[in-house]
Amino acid sequence: MSEPVIVLDHLSKSFGNVHAVQDLSLTIAPGTIFGFLGANGAGKTTTIRMLCGLVHPTSGTAMIAGADVWKDRQRVRTKFGYVPQRFSLYRDLTVLENFRFFGGAYGVPGAELEKRIERLLRLSDLEEKVTAAAGSLSGGMRQLLAIGCALVHDPSLLFFDEPTAGLDPVHRQQIWNLLYDLSNEGKTIFVTTHYMDEVERCTEVGFIESGRLLAKASPRALKSGFRARLLEIDVEPLMPALVRLRDLPELLGVSLRSGSLRLYAQEPEKLMARWRENWPFPDLRLLGERWVEPDMEDVFTAYSQGYDGVLKKSAS
Ligand code: ATP
Repeated sequence: MSEPVIVLDHLSKSFGNVHAVQDLSLTIAPGTIFGFLGANGAGKTTTIRMLCGLVHPTSGTAMIAGADVWKDRQRVRTKFGYVPQRFSLYRDLTVLENFRFFGGAYGVPGAELEKRIERLLRLSDLEEKVTAAAGSLSGGMRQLLAIGCALVHDPSLLFFDEPTAGLDPVHRQQIWNLLYDLSNEGKTIFVTTHYMDEVERCTEVGFIESGRLLAKASPRALKSGFRARLLEIDVEPLMPALVRLRDLPELLGVSLRSGSLRLYAQEPEKLMARWRENWPFPDLRLLGERWVEPDMEDVFTAYSQGYDGVLKKSAS
């Protein structure tokens, strides 16, 4: 097996009494599309910023390709590309000027740089926008340009912090196609997202909550980390049913899915058997029941809400 490209060893970062990242240990193999998942404020950006040498860890270490990301940060910087959450480009510069600026900053030699820019313009579908100011591009195109600029020094590892946030489904797909192309070239991709369909596209997923890593596994393994299939019921009227069921002590939670109620319960079979015998809500009509396989949204809900009762002991 090849050496991991990223190794985090008990990495922590505190801002005063805010423990943004706590005791994070994990490894990522080359060629992985690693999806880093967690609620707002869970510690994803802080982890990426530590990996990029922008934030000093409070304790622990992080290595990229065998080099310490803080002590060796000048050297490590050339090994990765970083597309941050916020606009990272020069708005007043054109598309071409942005590429040249970033290429120059990374010391890519002139002739090589022009060849790379030509390829990246093609890859990011921006050939017709070369002379447009970055600030005048649509959100999707700006993001493609930001990714292109992060690739100009041809790094083998890329960090993307919510690269598709706020984009329409067509641009999201376009960005993911670009990520697949990069992965196909053998690059390692570390990406954060809040879109569950995008999590499904990752080869491995890490789930972080309050700065702590709760699980790290493939999407399939995470989904099979549930103790049982989930119970879905059809009830009328729907909204009063949702509100009533949410308050039941036997239920950890309830979510509305395509007009049905998906229930998170520790012992759903027993609960349903009881309900079949004696449905306790005279004002609500139970119309149907079915068992469904958990999806990534269920994984996210279970981990972020702490529904340990529906999960096997450990999914990592
Ligand atoms: P989001 O999904 O909203 O981007 P995140 O998972 O990336 O969230 P972080 O931005 O890493 O979360 O923040 C983790 C915690 O650290 C939050 O409580 C945040 O307020 C805090 N934090 C982050 N940066 C700083 C800072 N520079 N100073 C103080 N607190 C910070």
